[in-house]
Amino acid sequence: MAISRFAELKTNDRLLYYRLKLGLTGVGVALGAGFLYLVNPATLPPSCLFHSMTGWNCPFCGATRATHQLLHGDLMTALHLNALFVLSLPLLAWLGWSYLRTTWAGQEWRGYRLKLPQTTVVCVLLLLFAVLRNLPFAPFN
Ligand SMILES: [Zn+2]
Repeated sequence: MAISRFAELKTNDRLLYYRLKLGLTGVGVALGAGFLYLVNPATLPPSCLFHSMTGWNCPFCGATRATHQLLHGDLMTALHLNALFVLSLPLLAWLGWSYLRTTWAGQEWRGYRLKLPQTTVVCVLLLLFAVLRNLPFAPFN
C-alpha cells in the first residue's frame, strides 16, 4: 500500500521527499561528526560493554575513536585504533557519493548488493581483522 501511494506522488513531491531525506541525513552526519570532533569517545563513561565483557578491543569503539583522531588530523593514531575502518573510508566515501548523487536526482538509492562470494570474503576479512587486532604482541597490539 505504502509503495503504491508513494508511486502516485507527483515528480516534484518525490524530489522534495528525497531531498528532505538527503538533508536529514546530512544533518545527522554533521551532528555526529561535530560530536566526535568535540568529544573524545575514549574519555566517555560508561566503558564499552563488549570490551568489559571480553577484554577485546571493540571494532565500533575503535572506529569512533579513530574518527575523532581523523577529525583532528591524526592519521597515524586513527590507523592504530582501527586500521580497517580508516582504510575502508575511500569505499565509504564512494558509497556516500553514490547515495548523494542518486538521492539528489530524486531516485531511490539501492546501494551496492554483494554477491555470496564477495560477502564471504568481507566476513572473513572482518573476522580476521577482529582476531588479529586483539593479539597481544607486535605488530597487532
Ligand atoms: Zn565498543
